[in-house]
Amino acid sequence: MNVYDGQRIATMLEAHNMIQTDDLSEADLIILNTCAVREKATNKVYSALGRIRKAKKPTALFGIVGCVARESGSDAFKRIPELNFVLGPQSYHKLPELIKDPASKLLNIDLTGLEKFDELPTMQQTPLVAYIPVQEGCNHCCTYCIVPYTRGRELSRPFDDIIKDTINAANTGAIEICFLGQNVNGYKYTDPAGKIFKLSDVIRETAKIDNVKRIRFTSSYPTEMTDDLIDMFATESKLLPFLNMPIQSGSERILKLMHRPDNLKMYFNIVDKLKQARPDIQISSDFIVGFPDETEEDFQCTVDIAKKIKYINSYSFKYSPRPHTAAAIMPNQISEQIKSVRLQLLDSQLNINQREFNLSCIGKEMLCLFEGPDKTGTKLVYRTPYMQQCIIDKKHDDNITSLQMIKITEANKSCLKGEPIK
Ligand code: SAH
Repeated sequence: MNVYDGQRIATMLEAHNMIQTDDLSEADLIILNTCAVREKATNKVYSALGRIRKAKKPTALFGIVGCVARESGSDAFKRIPELNFVLGPQSYHKLPELIKDPASKLLNIDLTGLEKFDELPTMQQTPLVAYIPVQEGCNHCCTYCIVPYTRGRELSRPFDDIIKDTINAANTGAIEICFLGQNVNGYKYTDPAGKIFKLSDVIRETAKIDNVKRIRFTSSYPTEMTDDLIDMFATESKLLPFLNMPIQSGSERILKLMHRPDNLKMYFNIVDKLKQARPDIQISSDFIVGFPDETEEDFQCTVDIAKKIKYINSYSFKYSPRPHTAAAIMPNQISEQIKSVRLQLLDSQLNINQREFNLSCIGKEMLCLFEGPDKTGTKLVYRTPYMQQCIIDKKHDDNITSLQMIKITEANKSCLKGEPIK
């Protein structure tokens, strides 16, 4: 979501005759687009702001947008009085007001509507992967999560607007469409005539667009994985065989404390249905270790579920207490030391899964999407349908395409190597 927001901000400012620079000391306007999910991310913002304040031109304007802006509000100005703007995730389209009146201080952390989508200029050029939000916010209120506070309650965009954005993306360069939402599969829009649109409708309509070759979506809430959506994996071949469906913990007791779906049988049932719909599907998860009151036994259940579901490409985090969340004031908070040990143990299991899956790809042919050159400039990086990184030698780059069939020849835990197939 933040990558998407960043692209929209850049396009908006280009429409005001600004150009991007990598040189901080040269910039006239410096924007930190921020994440507040974990405390570390928030702390990083403030240390970065301190650095920016010293390195920037005296006349340069600087400030924060996104979730830390929403989390801090006017406090941000108290911490750093020189800041010029503090704009939450639904208000960054107001930045041009500052260009008109550089002496003003902008503060807006409203979450009441999705007017930014109407105000932002249309993308004239889209990268190969287009991020398209279908909804923002979340109503689930997991007890660890600051997102309902920073991004607000669920608001789904009109179906026609999403399809219009998708067609525009396909016409201006996109091959892959990634639909976004904090609770993406909770997407539900009722049009003025009373017709209800769900994420499955969005996918079905998008699959009809010729230029679109790959479709995916993130992040999914397990129990919103309804049959109409699962069916899409069977009927729409453009939908990639890869799904991020976070479980967070393998212990039903902890899931209950997290206020997450805590019936593991139901979760396994959804996984089975997905596999029936698309036998080659792979699933990834997010995990939190060291949630308040998590015992060794609870934690072992998490390692066991990672082993059982054979998740690939997963993310794992130490629990981080966040303001405005119920878990932050729960008893039996776990020490940093225990969290670190558990994270390491879980990661070793996740690494085993990833390595095994990558090795199983050797000899297969996969249709991969171009991402860019590697750091050395001698190789080209692609993404497989499972979002694995796949590297090929640049010597091939005369006759290869952005969407390229590649035969996998080597694999390790973190990436694949392959040869393009003509
Ligand atoms: N569905 C949300 C989740 C975003 S946060 C969205 O798309 O916006 C991504 C992941 O961060 C979560 O799935 C969870 O595993 C982790 N996370 C969220 N809050 C956390 C916290 N307080 N401490 C540690 N990890 C957290």
